[in-house]
Amino acid sequence: MSTPPTLPIAGNKPKELSDLIACIKIYHPNADTALIEKAYRFSETVHQGQKRSSGESYFHHPIEVAFIIAELQLDTTTVATALLHDTVEDTVATLEQIEAEFGPEIAALVDGVTKISQISFQTSEEKQAENFRKMVFAMAKDLRVILVKLADRTHNMRTLQHLRPDKQARIAQETLDIYAPLANRLGLSAMKRELEDLSLRYTKPEIYYKLVAQVNKKLNERDQYTQDVLAMIEGALHEHGYHNARVSGRPKHFYSIHKKMEKRDLTYDQVYDLTGFRIILETVEQCYGVLGLIHSLWTPVPGRFKDYIAIPKANFYQSLHTTVVGPGGEKIEIQIRTQEMHDTAERGIAAHWAYKEGKNLNQEASKFSWLNRLVEWNKDLKDPNEFLETVKLDLFSEDVYIFTPKGKVIEFPQGATPLDFAYTIHTDLGHHCIGAKVNGRMVPLKYKLKSGDTVEVLTSPNQTPNKDWLKLVKTSRAKSKIRQFIKVQEHESSKVMGEMILEKELKKEDLKFKTLMKEGLLDTAAEAFSLKSVDDLLSAIGYGKLSAKKVITKIPLPEKEAEETSKETKDLKEQKRPLQKIVEEASKKSTSRQVVKVKGIEDLLVHFARCCNPVPGDSVVGFITRGRGISVHTRKCPKIFDSDPHRLIDIEWDMNSVAERAVKIRVICEDRPGLLADMSAVIKDQHANITRAQIGTTKDKKAVCLFSISIKNLNHLSKIISALEGISGVLKAERVQKKES
Ligand code: MN
Repeated sequence: MSTPPTLPIAGNKPKELSDLIACIKIYHPNADTALIEKAYRFSETVHQGQKRSSGESYFHHPIEVAFIIAELQLDTTTVATALLHDTVEDTVATLEQIEAEFGPEIAALVDGVTKISQISFQTSEEKQAENFRKMVFAMAKDLRVILVKLADRTHNMRTLQHLRPDKQARIAQETLDIYAPLANRLGLSAMKRELEDLSLRYTKPEIYYKLVAQVNKKLNERDQYTQDVLAMIEGALHEHGYHNARVSGRPKHFYSIHKKMEKRDLTYDQVYDLTGFRIILETVEQCYGVLGLIHSLWTPVPGRFKDYIAIPKANFYQSLHTTVVGPGGEKIEIQIRTQEMHDTAERGIAAHWAYKEGKNLNQEASKFSWLNRLVEWNKDLKDPNEFLETVKLDLFSEDVYIFTPKGKVIEFPQGATPLDFAYTIHTDLGHHCIGAKVNGRMVPLKYKLKSGDTVEVLTSPNQTPNKDWLKLVKTSRAKSKIRQFIKVQEHESSKVMGEMILEKELKKEDLKFKTLMKEGLLDTAAEAFSLKSVDDLLSAIGYGKLSAKKVITKIPLPEKEAEETSKETKDLKEQKRPLQKIVEEASKKSTSRQVVKVKGIEDLLVHFARCCNPVPGDSVVGFITRGRGISVHTRKCPKIFDSDPHRLIDIEWDMNSVAERAVKIRVICEDRPGLLADMSAVIKDQHANITRAQIGTTKDKKAVCLFSISIKNLNHLSKIISALEGISGVLKAERVQKKES
């Protein structure tokens, strides 16, 4: 009653050309058998005399690989490629020869398979990433390359017992890590199941053989149960007029049972639904009809119904899934689909291409948005490790399906957030996204989308992307849009910075930025550093790549004028001295210079914003003022949200600095004698100075004390606050950040 597996385990009798041609003729009656015969003979000749580890003739391997390809019903070009796939790597045959004999298409395919075979996934992380990249590249060029490679790996896994145990474990692990997920992603689920079971056998033999024994032991009992369920389903189908339905039940594959046991920490006896039931019908309407029938027969388990017909998986998989409480209270899983859907489920992308010669598989492949994403990442993610991480995550995770408010379905990789959604709709929507309503409820940006969510993006004109967003998004589109924004923004702010630094340096020489700009002298300086524009020059200064002093030496000042200028400068300097002194003194007084570091720049005027009065340890950001240097704000300061993002700059605290900052602390306490003395003692104990104290009372007879204290950093401050709160009678102590009137 159960259907045979699509990929039969290799038979004992060696297969021959006539078998292969017969296999192709089943799905492609008019196939170019001459090509197959030529490739067969060529491969047979060049592999002559070679033996596999098993001792059998090497040529047996390409034939078996060609069979797997033919069973996937691929075109003759791909079958020929399978026959030839090891000729260039392992025999005297050259690629030129292949091209001369079989043409450029097959030569390119053989070359692709040869290259993928040379890729090792067992090397260092970085190398591995690079290799993965190569494979993705090969896939993007022609998917048939990866299909032949998967067939090659499938046959190698079937014959793995002939290799040394260490090699077995290595190859099996690689299969589990890379090739089985790939097969899954391409929708080749029959192949995926086989690869997983074979991998389990060699990576965890003790688990595998125990499982085999357990399954066999229960086999008769299971068989009876399966037959009973099948009879009940068939009876119901017949009764309701579904005469052409095909019903099957078969044990789930070992690897999936193992995974289930591992995941839920179950013993074999605790695992239910060991048998998967499948009903194959003629039309989609029948599928839904039969679903209703099944649900009237047995109670469905809530939350286990999935409609992959309405919303297909990323690899095109379509089916209805439901779990019901079957006979004896046992949970059973039932899949309901049409024959066409079943073909797609078993053969994936190969089914979509089928035998229609001339139909481009790669056009079909473009429908696989997963593959598109992979190719996109390959372009976007320049850091190979980041690429590998992203790809690995995606290989193993299922996609989520999200609804727009208008009911359109969009597919996302798991872990995607409202930001990914927003960027998919429109770049501006992403840039200004402040959160989202998911199924009508407000969620933060970091919310992880779940299949079925309806997402509505919330925006604010003041919102702009920042570096932290890169950690929140999963799609490459969102990543690259955010990066782009940050890049432009950094360029802009470094330009502003550069202009400020240069202007300051020019002033020392009594030169005016605006004048030089007008005379085009800065263009000459830019050229001197091989920079395209003055903007680039300023940005280079702002980034700290170029020093302003060095730039000034490249500004062509007519010599005579320069002399005069220097004379004038002297005079002016004489005159200006008092003013300059004031500035110098002011900057000496300002302790902020020593406390805050600005990337690449030392000599800058920095002051602390009074609105939020940041202290060392606060998360801060710099605002480039016009003419007053940089003002330091806390990142939470409301003023920052209103300011021009181009003028914001990353700064950090110099935690080695010993300079102190003044903060205000408000203490609300009971009005008891001696409390003030206690508080001042506690503050002194923490080695902090009180510079000012104010005391008042509230209507309800509580005392409010306002202290101005010099502290070292945030840590110091929180110690003081908790010490104050430890005093009996103190109700609350807190930092005052807003300027109090
Ligand atoms: Mn091979």
